[in-house]
Amino acid sequence: MGTDVVPTLSSSQILREVFGYEQFRGPQEAIVSHVISGGDALVLMPTGGGKSLCYQIPAIARQQAGQGVTVVISPLIALMHDQVGALHEAGVEAEFLNSTLTGEQASALEKRLLRADLTMLYAAPERITTPRFLALLDSLHERGLLSMFAIDEAHCVSQWGHDFRPEYRALTVLHERYAGVPRMALTATADALTRADIVERLQLEDAQQFVSSFDRPNIRYKIVEKKDATQQLLRFIQHEHEGDAGIVYCQSRRKVEDIAQTLCAAGLNALPYHAGLDPMVRQTHQDSFLREDGIVMVATIAFGMGIDKPDVRFVAHLDMPKNIEGYYQETGRAGRDGAPANAWMGYGLQDVVNQRRMIDESPAGDDFKQVMRGKLDALLTLAEGADCRRVRLLAYFDEASLPCMNCDNCLNPPNVWDGTDAARKLLSTIYRVQQASGISFGAGHIMDIVRGKTTDKVTQFGHEGLTTFGIGASFSELQLRGVLRQLIATGALNVDGQAFNTLQLTEQSRAVLKGEVAVRLRESVSTPAERKTKRGASPSSKPNAAPLTLDDAAQLRFAALKAWRGEVAREHNLPAYVIFHDATLAAIAERVPQTLDDLQGISGIGAKKLEAYGEEVLRVVGL
Ligand code: ADP
Ligand code: ZN
Repeated sequence: MGTDVVPTLSSSQILREVFGYEQFRGPQEAIVSHVISGGDALVLMPTGGGKSLCYQIPAIARQQAGQGVTVVISPLIALMHDQVGALHEAGVEAEFLNSTLTGEQASALEKRLLRADLTMLYAAPERITTPRFLALLDSLHERGLLSMFAIDEAHCVSQWGHDFRPEYRALTVLHERYAGVPRMALTATADALTRADIVERLQLEDAQQFVSSFDRPNIRYKIVEKKDATQQLLRFIQHEHEGDAGIVYCQSRRKVEDIAQTLCAAGLNALPYHAGLDPMVRQTHQDSFLREDGIVMVATIAFGMGIDKPDVRFVAHLDMPKNIEGYYQETGRAGRDGAPANAWMGYGLQDVVNQRRMIDESPAGDDFKQVMRGKLDALLTLAEGADCRRVRLLAYFDEASLPCMNCDNCLNPPNVWDGTDAARKLLSTIYRVQQASGISFGAGHIMDIVRGKTTDKVTQFGHEGLTTFGIGASFSELQLRGVLRQLIATGALNVDGQAFNTLQLTEQSRAVLKGEVAVRLRESVSTPAERKTKRGASPSSKPNAAPLTLDDAAQLRFAALKAWRGEVAREHNLPAYVIFHDATLAAIAERVPQTLDDLQGISGIGAKKLEAYGEEVLRVVGL
């Protein structure tokens, strides 16, 4: 297979005719042309950046040039049906091979594959590396009909990524067995460490790297201190996202169930999703989320990879994720369509304690734990910081940027107070308690002593006799909590997960005790102020997916088109957005096309969709 490929359609023609888009986005064109001519590529592009077209267009071009089948490796069996469905809607010959097919369907598909009567085949990594499948690929390869490999979600190969899948490691066979067949790896997340790991594991040393900006300008980041977390979440959804689709991440299965129930009781349309649910239930919930409007999915991180629903308007974290990669990846599922979206995270002392403990208690080796602690610290710094969230987030991915004016800190700069004195009082109390009683205590008890509260426990241990009893009576519990959180975050305090989360001094405590290190903290926002800010910040604070510019008549047409789209989607057993995006329907409603020609050129209407739906769309618009 040489490099002088002559496809019948140029890549921009494919973009226009098959997908209905006028222009390539960002680096898409460069990637597509590099891959069409047979180069290997590593593509790092944020969620919603348009990675799919980066391999789909080369797959189509190379197929037309007689180079055969592109194999797409994806870990997402549950989503392959919809991905392939979307390609069928665009008139592309794609199929998937996975465990959901019957034996008969699978062997029919294998025959088609051998005839290379297919542009793209989606399969999971464990399927591809079976002897049976490799034999099929061998046969294609011998005849020059194995066009290329696209390895999606490539971070799964790395244990530093947030979603390590050991099956991905076996993909080295592709390079060894089919040297010369172009390979591209794509991912939406990769810090320097993960990126290096992907290159090494998949042997992509010679691949050209295409690294896009990781900024998602339409996402507004907000990180709030937890007080009554569930109520805060509820207020956030009710004030800013009534009727919107969103995802709420929680750490445990039980919490997922609880929160889903609470949200339902408050009148929201919420569904739970976690690995402990029956697979059928899980799939049904995922389908509802994808196919119906306005569902809030309450989930563990088992949910979300590859979910390409474009109109998720918010992602909320009720528990802090493990690291920035996870946070970035999960929040990235909001606003793929480019319309305003919110990323909301509640965070508190307990999160810090839990995450530290999980690392300490994990069976991993010390080196691994050290990396994990470093990654957690970076996230804590982001949460504690009083400066632009986006600047910090992007800096983590080695990208320099300026304050964004679309995050909580930019929009409402928090006051910063000097917590050095409070920190010293807390640390010296921890020291004295340890001296006096010979054991360590948890945060609650220490704060009681500092604030001079005579609780049963204080009396029991005679801690009201300590010289530090009541020395911090002027501080609120909220303030002290904030100080403790930061001391733990910066390593000036240790939480012993093996011993009831008791607090212990560390090497770094001394510098704080001596006053050599200043402790600066964001001022806690009180609840009323929080409410005021939200109202004050509207209308821009409510990201709204509905096309605002449509007049009343156009709104009616838009609604009619949506109803029609819903029927088609149900008939085809596909999510509505696979038929047409909201933005496409809005453009139709606005322009009131009279002829098929008028429809052509509206973004998102390719040749196949024009042919399949053009007449009906005109009828619906004309009603
Ligand atoms: P990713 O896989 O990078 O998260 P997708 O490939 O799902 O992103 O693309 C995100 C959305 O952007 C999709 O709805 C896709 O149809 C749309 N899109 C991609 N490229 C273009 C383009 N060049 N012009 C218009 N829309 C595009
Ligand atoms: Zn900002």
